[in-house]
Amino acid sequence: MTSTETVSDALGVLRRVFGYDSFRGEQEAIISHVVDGGDALVLMPTGGGKSLCYQIPSLVREGVGVVISPLIALMQDQVDALRALGVRAGFLNSTQDYEQRREVEQAFLAGELDLLYLAPERLRLESTVSLLGRGKVALFAIDEAHCVSQWGHDFRPDYLGLSELHERWPDVPRIALTATATKATHEEIATRLNLGEAKHFVASFDRPNIQYRIVPKNSPQKQLLELLRTEHAGDAGIVYCLSRASVEKTAEFLSANGIPAVPYHAGLDARTRAKHQSRFLREDGLVVVATIAFGMGIDKPDVRFVAHLDLPKSVEGYYQETGRAGRDGQPSTAWLAYGLQDVVQQRKMIDTSEGDDAHRRRLGQHLDAMLALCETIECRRVQLLNYFGQQGERCGNCDTCLAPPESWDGTVVAQKLLSAVYRLATERRQKFGAGQSIDILLGKQTPKVSQHRHDELTVFGIGTELSESEWRGVVRQLLAQGLLAVEGDYGTLVLTEASGEVLGRRREVRLRREPKRAAKAPKTAKSKAAVEMPPEAAPLFERLRAWRAETAKDQGVPAYVIFHDATLRQIATERPSTLEQLGGVSGVGESKLVKYGEAILETLSAA
Ligand code: ADP
Ligand code: ZN
Repeated sequence: MTSTETVSDALGVLRRVFGYDSFRGEQEAIISHVVDGGDALVLMPTGGGKSLCYQIPSLVREGVGVVISPLIALMQDQVDALRALGVRAGFLNSTQDYEQRREVEQAFLAGELDLLYLAPERLRLESTVSLLGRGKVALFAIDEAHCVSQWGHDFRPDYLGLSELHERWPDVPRIALTATATKATHEEIATRLNLGEAKHFVASFDRPNIQYRIVPKNSPQKQLLELLRTEHAGDAGIVYCLSRASVEKTAEFLSANGIPAVPYHAGLDARTRAKHQSRFLREDGLVVVATIAFGMGIDKPDVRFVAHLDLPKSVEGYYQETGRAGRDGQPSTAWLAYGLQDVVQQRKMIDTSEGDDAHRRRLGQHLDAMLALCETIECRRVQLLNYFGQQGERCGNCDTCLAPPESWDGTVVAQKLLSAVYRLATERRQKFGAGQSIDILLGKQTPKVSQHRHDELTVFGIGTELSESEWRGVVRQLLAQGLLAVEGDYGTLVLTEASGEVLGRRREVRLRREPKRAAKAPKTAKSKAAVEMPPEAAPLFERLRAWRAETAKDQGVPAYVIFHDATLRQIATERPSTLEQLGGVSGVGESKLVKYGEAILETLSAA
């Protein structure tokens, strides 16, 4: 097969089966490379369109595309979504009984499958290997390929075994895919999976439709509620908290305030977790409040916001989590509330973490990068892309672009604060947390101040130019810049080497002034892929959504398996009156046109 044939076949499949007009970014290059039999390593952000990169070659090449994925709980949905498109797909994993497995195996051997999803541990069974040997494999796709890395997950041993695929099937192309962007992981995947000859495809990691916002944390639950009420009423979203207790509390708080929300964390039993995940996928507008245990592989396209109530431990984690918003390219929000307590708590966690010094140092570096992102006065997106080794321009769609914070000369206030810590340490041989130092600077006569006679210190009352919350902001930023440190169980403040430079007037301190007015989503959030919908089309869109909800329920599949929001928006806007016109809408392929075309036209004409 020549390359030009490849491309036209692939494009035909894209249009006919998936109902999309054109490839995105590197999809075309990747697909034609794999169709031609080449190995590929694909790094693309969440929502970038990785699935098509192996699904289309599986349809174009002879044989069955074998997809290795650790996300057993999601296989059923993935297969349902493909079947809705008329693709013959099946899976084999531990959730099936013997009879169900046998049916899939028969279909595979009879050449009645286009795609077969496998849990990685299946490939360690001789029976699976021999099954694959008796059929025709079109390609191996290794999804979530970062699982092979040392930072990977429980599936690592199974993933390491995948390096042997090449020996057993030297002529079958392999395509490994991940949304993890760092160079180290990238190289590790290539080595461990034996992908030395593979062509590397690294997409831009920008997600232009996601609006990044990081705000100072005052009363996080109220701030969250305000965000959801004013900007995300009725939207599906994920709220991340660090602890199980705060997950539970926040979910209760939202529910009590009329926002449908369910908790998700490792302390819940497996059935409850599965139920909540399935509701999130199936219902419109449900909020999941979760620890980071939730979300990997969730390919719900219409998650409209991801909110963090606690500071993530690394920029990578943050980017993965926020990346779950807006896979459909529609405007979405990534919102993080962060405060002094986060820094104190995380430093403490690092100090007491298991592992050697090198490990702790690494954790510290991850936290520092995260703090730098929080405290930057530059474009958040530029900073994020730089972190992943990519260039960007001021984006106009993050809080610092929308309401630029000022920086100010904080040298004097920094000196005041550091002096207070210094006096306590030298004159009294005492260490305190941020609260006491701030009370001293503000000249507050609290019982604790009297008890320790801190009102006799020369620094008592020298900091009345700032409010308490402004002082907390100063402490937070000094911690982030390494000009101050915390230690021990109580998060007591201690000086660092760099503190000396500030106290000795050898170093200037720049601080970030929070904009008075928090940045809000502009009415026309900038987004390349967004489908604009005129306001008069909104009632029709709601009607179509209601039709979709009912249909999805009848068929027991998530709503997005029927049609994505973007597709319904375009239908509501263009109001097609024939099947042919409807078939021209992005996301309406042949199979869905046959299945749902009449019902859609009826819904439109009834409106
Ligand atoms: P990833 O696996 O990289 O997170 P997906 O494969 O789930 O991303 O794709 C994200 C979304 O983009 C899906 O809803 C998919 O249908 C859509 N998509 C992918 N490629 C295209 C394309 N060429 N045109 C239009 N939509 C696309
Ligand atoms: Zn920006």
